[in-house]
Amino acid sequence: MTETTAGAEAPDPRRSRDVRGARRFRNSSALVRNSDPVWQAAADHGLIDIQVEHESNNRLVVPGTGHAFANMVSCSYLGLNRHPGVLEGAIDALRETGTIELMTSTTRIRPTIQGRLEEELRDLFGAEVLLATTCTAATAGILPLVASGHLAPGGPRVMVFDRFAHFSMSYVKAICAEESLVLTCDHNDLDFLADACRRYPSVAYVGDGAYSMGGAAALDGLLELQDRYGLYLFIDDSHSVSIVGERGEGYVRSRTEVGELTTIVSSLGKGFGSGGGVALLDSRRKAEFLSRHGGPLGWSQDVSVPTIGAALGSAAVHRSPELGELQAALRANLDLFDRLLPTPLAGNGLPVRRIDVGDADRAVELSAELYRRGYYSSAVFFPIVPRGEAGLRVMVRADLPAEEITAFAGHVGDLLATPATAR
Ligand SMILES: *Cc1c(COP(=O)(O)O)cnc(C)c1O
Repeated sequence: MTETTAGAEAPDPRRSRDVRGARRFRNSSALVRNSDPVWQAAADHGLIDIQVEHESNNRLVVPGTGHAFANMVSCSYLGLNRHPGVLEGAIDALRETGTIELMTSTTRIRPTIQGRLEEELRDLFGAEVLLATTCTAATAGILPLVASGHLAPGGPRVMVFDRFAHFSMSYVKAICAEESLVLTCDHNDLDFLADACRRYPSVAYVGDGAYSMGGAAALDGLLELQDRYGLYLFIDDSHSVSIVGERGEGYVRSRTEVGELTTIVSSLGKGFGSGGGVALLDSRRKAEFLSRHGGPLGWSQDVSVPTIGAALGSAAVHRSPELGELQAALRANLDLFDRLLPTPLAGNGLPVRRIDVGDADRAVELSAELYRRGYYSSAVFFPIVPRGEAGLRVMVRADLPAEEITAFAGHVGDLLATPATAR
């Protein structure tokens, strides 16, 4: 240890406490300590890292074991991941271009087929679009520039993240904190937000439209705050694209316009069934700006040609009457599910359901027994959900046969009625 002339201790870089970061927005030790034992329990029950042959979304087969099961956690809410038009779209695109991708930053050069998809999505969603390899990449590229004040007038913005915002957003808090003040509010806490709007000159709110653990944004209240205080809204609507809206534009876009103060991002790797991500913006200029300065929006891989082709195939389904039929089939399945297995999220028109059991080990046990009986539903626990609120997460799809829903609900009812020790 060295002594300075003032007698204070100089930092010793060999001692970890001297090199540890501020840990204000990420703390890997706490994360691993809290969640890894439950992940390990799930692994010990054979519930993760499962390899399957994919005969349909309702019959996944584990080779060499004879075990088959229905996937109750697929986000392909309309079954478009296996739609012939989507598959043909991918194959046609490969044949047409003869390449996987240009392997060149799309900021500089991109294939015309990508321009075609952008045009299709512009028309479907009624907004300017920026394609991204994933929704995660779009968020990582956009949020720091919202924080720095580059996407709207008003200077750097105080970033208020909803406590339940998807991990892909909260993951970027530390980067945003290099640009502006970052705060976290309770779920849908409009009072907190209103207070922040009164206290600071420029504020942005970051959260989901339809939440990945169920429920929706308090959109009316958010729009009111936007009107009154110029609140910027950054909303990730990955879980409602395709399933809500006449053209599948999603929960938020079907209720409000994109504008200078409203940006929506979505994954195309859920209901849309193709892969890729998209940001809905108010101007072409903003899309160009983001592709220059939005980090992962400009560097590295493009959305691959087969993914673009699949998205073109999916866009064609979105234009056809089939979209309304698939949305109606999903609603009918949700109604059946809610009748047989009522949960607090019943009747909300969105496809995520949670069966709360409280204790994480019990959730893993239930998931394991359901898997044995032919249904994969995921045990969710901290930090995916708050501590003490562990349970099973189930996603209802349009292509789930009614008999499967009925049988699944029967098994869940049966298992919940039996204390763990009696089995
Ligand atoms: C699944 C999900 C994502 C991730 O989408 P990618 O396109 O895979 O990055 C992002 N946000 C929400 C709300 C999600 O549920």
